Amino acid sequence: MMKSPYPEARKYVFEWGFFMQCPRSDGTLKEVTVDGVTVDICESCGGVWFDAQELAKFDEAHEESGQELLALMAQYHSDGLDHAGLLKSPKDPSVTLVRRYYSPKEEIEIDECPITGSIWLDAGELAKIHDLFPSQEDRKRAYRDFAVRFKRSADIEKMKREGGRGKTERVMGLFEWIFGR
Ligand SMILES: [Zn+2]
Repeated sequence: MMKSPYPEARKYVFEWGFFMQCPRSDGTLKEVTVDGVTVDICESCGGVWFDAQELAKFDEAHEESGQELLALMAQYHSDGLDHAGLLKSPKDPSVTLVRRYYSPKEEIEIDECPITGSIWLDAGELAKIHDLFPSQEDRKRAYRDFAVRFKRSADIEKMKREGGRGKTERVMGLFEWIFGR
C-alpha cells in the first residue's frame, strides 16, 4: 500500500474519526448509525461512505432502515456536483477510488476503494425521489425502477468482469438494502 502523504497529526485525526473530508464536495462527513449499520454522511451533499465491514451487515438490516438512510440523504443538496474527476478515499487521500457506476442524468455515482472494498454513494436522484413522492408506495416503486436500470447497466457487467462476483454482490447488497427486496 502507498504511504499516505498526510502528516501524522492529520492521519491521527482521520483514524479517530473527528472528521473526514467529503470526497465529492467541500463538506465534512458525520457518523450516523441506522439500524445497526454505521455510515458517514456528508452534511453538504448528502453522499455516504460505507466502510467495508459495515457493508457486510446489510443482510441482517431491515428494509425500512434503507429508507431511513435515504431520508437523511435527502436533507442535503446534491445539485451541480462535479463528476469529472475520480474521487479520493476519505480514509486515505492517497488512494483513488474506482468508479463502478455513474448515471449522468441521475447524478448518481458509486465508487469503490480498490484496497478495502469500501463504497462511496452519491445522493443524487435517490435523495430527490424521497422528496418527490409523498406516499411510501410511490417511493418504493420509483426506487425499484432505479434498481432495475442499475442492475441492467453496462457498468454492472463491467464490474462482474473486473471485480469478480464478491464485489458485484456487495454493491447489489447495498442497493437491495436501500430499495427493499
Ligand atoms: Zn459532500
